[in-house]
Amino acid sequence: MIPVTGFAGKKVALFGLGGSGLASAQALAAGGADVIAFDDSAASIDKARAAGIATADLRRIDWSDIAALLLAPGVPLTHPAPHWSVELARRAGAEVIGDVELFCRERRRLAPNSPFVAITGTNGKSTTTALIHHLLVSAGRSADLGGNIGTAVLTLKPPRADHAHVVECSSYQIDLAPTLDPRVGVLINVSEDHLDRHGTLAYYASIKERLVAGAQEDGAAVVGVDDEWCAAAAERIAAKGRAVIRISVRKRLPEGIYAQNGEIFHASGANTQSIARLDNIGSLRGLHNAQNAACAVAATLALGLDAATIQKGLRSFPGLAHRMEQVGRKGPVLFVNDSKATNADSSAQALACFNDMFWIAGGKPKTGGIASLAGFFPRIRKAYLIGEAAEDFARTLDGKVAYEMAGTLERAVALAARDSGASGLNEPVVLLSPACASFDQYRNFEVRGDRFRELVLALPGVETIK
Ligand code: ADP
Repeated sequence: MIPVTGFAGKKVALFGLGGSGLASAQALAAGGADVIAFDDSAASIDKARAAGIATADLRRIDWSDIAALLLAPGVPLTHPAPHWSVELARRAGAEVIGDVELFCRERRRLAPNSPFVAITGTNGKSTTTALIHHLLVSAGRSADLGGNIGTAVLTLKPPRADHAHVVECSSYQIDLAPTLDPRVGVLINVSEDHLDRHGTLAYYASIKERLVAGAQEDGAAVVGVDDEWCAAAAERIAAKGRAVIRISVRKRLPEGIYAQNGEIFHASGANTQSIARLDNIGSLRGLHNAQNAACAVAATLALGLDAATIQKGLRSFPGLAHRMEQVGRKGPVLFVNDSKATNADSSAQALACFNDMFWIAGGKPKTGGIASLAGFFPRIRKAYLIGEAAEDFARTLDGKVAYEMAGTLERAVALAARDSGASGLNEPVVLLSPACASFDQYRNFEVRGDRFRELVLALPGVETIK
């Protein structure tokens, strides 16, 4: 745990006790702050109390001596409207911040130049965060990973000059971290998402831009420039005289890091050096993963890793569960769990990676369905449709792709295993990439993906992939 000392002897209100909230309360209390916490859920309040945290309805407390409101990232700061606790804090003149801000302040006190890498982007955050962490650890560096990826940042080891913190930041967390100053900031990409919370794309993009604009001067601002928002952000940061490391998987860059035909290059002045090859790395298939890998290469080069070490680390990256996770093989058939693909855009990334697919899709439908995936239909040997979206998906596939109304994941796995096994194809792939949320049949995409893995591994003759 990282005790937060900046509020020692002061009162801090905290709203949102799920996940990182409780960790923040404990870190503040350990640093000597007087914390009063609250949540909408009685169960969360009970849990905090049991952990020794004082709780009270923040609508009924005296705000005159509250120094700050610590807000959990899930609670609205601006859109669609500020949460009532934010209104109360603003009226009382208390600052409104989140746990990443507390981490940054503590780091400035303890080890201001420590290798703190912050990562954001609309897509690829977790993969890039996990990959940077993996590259550092496999190079023998001491490193922690946390933030939005699941481990609250204040539960990690205290900042130290020789210890890296690799922290995934959602835009909500950046919004609550006004002095975010990573040594290396990474902005992978920006596209339409979460507009409910941030209003406009321009506002959402500007929040993400802050993560790289705030990177320390002697550190690095790594920016993917394949979308217009990030390209403009890179220009703005560079115009302020700051060094920007541009990333592209779509074009050769005169300066920066780019991927071309599965190879990552570093262009600097007149020199272009090949850093790594991505072919045959199953956990980094697809152009989207080339973008993630190129960002990770840039971040780790900035932290002093050499090309050979990076290449070795990339090869041993196991990948993340539920994101094109290779769960098993039976003869030539590869089984891939991409349960995290909860919309058509995400499924497109997976469908782009394979030639002969037995595709399991469906669940709770998202607007737009799968019409946008038509370009991949010729490579789908058969589709197995599950959940509420099955009828709608069947209408889109009708006459173009063979399909079966499987209904459940259990039946879909059995049918797809049978058909792929009998297909005689060289490299058939059974792919769960639902293009749908899971809530009609599963609690979340993780439970759905875990069930898929379990079903695949229970098939006779399936071997796990190391
Ligand atoms: P995040 O943490 O931003 O949600 P993940 O690394 O968990 O991202 O990846 C989630 C899904 O997003 C992947 O399964 C893939 O479909 C898609 N994805 C991953 N990286 C990228 C990228 N760089 N560009 C576009 N889509 C991506």
